[in-house]
Amino acid sequence: MTLKNWGRWEIAKLREVHKMANKPKVAICWLGSCGGCDETVVDLNEALLQVADAIDIVIWPVAMDFKYHHIEEMKDGEILLSIINGHVRNSEQEEIAKLLRRKSQLVLAFGACACFGGTPGLANFRTKEDIFNWVYRDAPTVVNPNGIYPQPKVQIDGNELTLPEFYERVYALNQVIDVDFYLPGCPPPPDLVANAINAVLEDKLPRKGSTLAPHKPLCDTCPRNGTKPERLAIKDIKRVHEVEADPNTCFLAQGILCLGPAIRTGCGEACININIPCRGCFGPVEGVADCGAKFVSSLASILDAEGEREVKEVVDTIDDLAGYLYRFTLPISNLKRRNKDG
Ligand code: SF4
Ligand code: SF4
Repeated sequence: MTLKNWGRWEIAKLREVHKMANKPKVAICWLGSCGGCDETVVDLNEALLQVADAIDIVIWPVAMDFKYHHIEEMKDGEILLSIINGHVRNSEQEEIAKLLRRKSQLVLAFGACACFGGTPGLANFRTKEDIFNWVYRDAPTVVNPNGIYPQPKVQIDGNELTLPEFYERVYALNQVIDVDFYLPGCPPPPDLVANAINAVLEDKLPRKGSTLAPHKPLCDTCPRNGTKPERLAIKDIKRVHEVEADPNTCFLAQGILCLGPAIRTGCGEACININIPCRGCFGPVEGVADCGAKFVSSLASILDAEGEREVKEVVDTIDDLAGYLYRFTLPISNLKRRNKDG
């Protein structure tokens, strides 16, 4: 069912759910987030009013003035569903994630950051020390003559001030708490959000651990699929801003990297439709743990290069290959992070 299909029949059903029982309690909460995932909930437009009629929102920091203590005072399991977006990088985010887990029957990791670590996960290519040195000492705009770095605890005039502890690396939500379902995307598209909420309200959820999006790779639904050659032979890799890409031809056939073969579909081909190749915000296709590694193995078979030296010459033309391959998924990849020794 898509958002556009939300008609009177669905509204009646939601009302029925509402009448039959107390409204189910739902938490919508952000951790390390840009706010885009909350925006997509707002993008449900009038369907949001129907959803609001069927559920009781108990916390939604971006939109409503509830406090964390309201959640702490609830019974364990009292919330039917917590929809959590954003990654975990500090002790406050971990504490909120654990609190919502305790109070909720179901947890939905919402958006690429919660599902895989997201673009903030690229910070795992740097150490915490690198980040602090750049932000509080080395960046050209920094003025910090006393070399003061933020501390988790500091005494001022006899009072202790505290800040959340900044962790060594970025974590995806399931690396901190048990997660029941996943809805990827940066942000997830509203039609999949509506489907997910419907599935919860109607008790039609798939097995625990499922991703609430199609199980095929993006290439299978891509409108350019018909122009993807059986066998590719890329000699020269181009970046999308360096050429005027043909809007009707497969990016890979044009020598432009597109992660479509390794990435789950469900995004509505949003980037492809504006002539931008897939960057991977829906994460690995079903059954693949590391989409970067999967894409590298397919890259090896599509390059028109002989021997290690020629392959290296072509690959070296890709600026920041690791960043490209793991733009959304580094924290859940086999690499997870750069270690201290590089
Ligand atoms: S998944 Fe994308 S939209 Fe959602 S919080 Fe992360 S960066 Fe923002
Ligand atoms: S590689 Fe990209 S452009 Fe080509 S068919 Fe797959 S998703 Fe479409």
